[in-house]
Amino acid sequence: MDTILVVNAGSSSVKFQIFAIEGEGRLRRQIKGQMDGIGRRPRLRASAANGDPLADRAYPIEAVSDIPAAMAVAGGWLRDELRISPIAVGHRVVHGGPDYDRPVAIDHGVVSRLERLIALAPLHQPHNLAPIRSLLANFPALPQVACFDTAFHRTHGAVADHYAIPHRLHAEGVRRYGFHGLSYEYIAKTLPQIAPDVGKGRVIVAHLGSGASMCALKGGRSVESTMGFTALDGLPMGTRPGQIDPGVVLYLISEKGMSASNVQNFLYRDCGLKGLSGISNDMRELEASDDPHAALAIEYFVYRIGLNAGMLAAALQGVDAFVFTAGIGENSAGIRRHIGEQLAWLGVTLDPVENSRHAQLISRSDSLIPVYVVPTDEELMIAQHTLSLLLNGPSLNPARERAA
Ligand code: AMP
Repeated sequence: MDTILVVNAGSSSVKFQIFAIEGEGRLRRQIKGQMDGIGRRPRLRASAANGDPLADRAYPIEAVSDIPAAMAVAGGWLRDELRISPIAVGHRVVHGGPDYDRPVAIDHGVVSRLERLIALAPLHQPHNLAPIRSLLANFPALPQVACFDTAFHRTHGAVADHYAIPHRLHAEGVRRYGFHGLSYEYIAKTLPQIAPDVGKGRVIVAHLGSGASMCALKGGRSVESTMGFTALDGLPMGTRPGQIDPGVVLYLISEKGMSASNVQNFLYRDCGLKGLSGISNDMRELEASDDPHAALAIEYFVYRIGLNAGMLAAALQGVDAFVFTAGIGENSAGIRRHIGEQLAWLGVTLDPVENSRHAQLISRSDSLIPVYVVPTDEELMIAQHTLSLLLNGPSLNPARERAA
């Protein structure tokens, strides 16, 4: 059976999934896996779609010292042991810049354009591009597709896309891009099946995972996001602060003598729930803790979600539904309950029983706004985009393109 490989590469891990292409372009998830600890303690773990373990093995550090090596080991395992040779690969790429408003078939020209965006996402873009380059070099005829976290938000109007800074900076790419676009796109596609009228309306989606943001959807299109130029802005996250006065950054540089890269590490790794609680970036640990700092971190998280909901409600000029998704949004009834209380002014009333059993609709029938829990599936979105470009797009084969 033909399959599609989905790749999500980070600094020290490569996550992958295999989807089987069934009749009429339907996709069925077959395998989930990841190679983590790259360059430290490499380990390949994979399971079947039903959770049955398929692999859990450690490798010597010199065997998996970088992302291309991790791709080679994982690809070799799929090919040699499971007899799976994907017919195309879809990649999660954090930044598509101002121009890519949809997934794109990858060739050498696309890679060069995406390399120019590294300055906009230095912590993610190089890792996302590494497996693309190594597959292009080793399997030049294998079709590859780049799916961007920014693309879904390119429908924002000019005002939402700008900062109040001189125009030349906007022209060179300093814009409010927004991220988690593949997650929001999946929710926008799924909502009409759950509640057809809601899908056409004004919806606030809260993607609350280790990264967290919120998106305002109007008629299934993104009109505003809490994230901006980078994935640092907006809501507090596991280790990122969310919205912060740029004056704090100036203070760290001028008074604390921190370099740009120190500040970058601090903002990406030491702040958010972890920084505020001093305990953990994991919401489960904070909820289980009786330390007052953990309680403060949770309260701050919930409070900022409430503030940002107000902002997005203003952008939408009203709200017809609210959706929770991602790790915290899908799994923590306690955080959803707190956020529900924070949204009471919008007429939100949660049903405690439905909320505690993680039902799809968790608001009471007399709630002015229905509240849903919709598990996100960014990998399925990437597989669907890859298949659709394979079936309908221009030639997906860079080798063929060059030969033509
Ligand atoms: P994600 O980035 O979407 O995979 O979400 C990961 C985060 O979700 C973890 O770091 C946890 O903080 C959070 N999470 C996962 N399960 C739960 C749970 N049952 N209760 C609270 N938080 C959870």
